[in-house]
Amino acid sequence: MIKLTTENTARAIEKCKKLKPTVRFVAERTFSVQSANNDNSYTVRFNVQNGEKFGICECKASEKGLVCYHIVGAAQVNIYRQSLKRQTA
Ligand SMILES: [Zn+2]
Repeated sequence: MIKLTTENTARAIEKCKKLKPTVRFVAERTFSVQSANNDNSYTVRFNVQNGEKFGICECKASEKGLVCYHIVGAAQVNIYRQSLKRQTA
């Protein structure tokens, strides 16, 4: 998994804002993100260890250790879900 930091997510956040990929919730901390360029969809998973966030995607960029816009797109939905849960708890 790739550790998510402000630095290594910055470029992907910009790309995500432009491409606006469709994100579907699959399971707790697991999302399916539709590619903006083709019909592929990629599964993104998250983990939290010692307060640090980690994410992994199935695409080629992620394989190389880069944070892709799929991870960022799914992360935004994940944060939104967590905040909804807190409000209803
Ligand atoms: Zn990806």
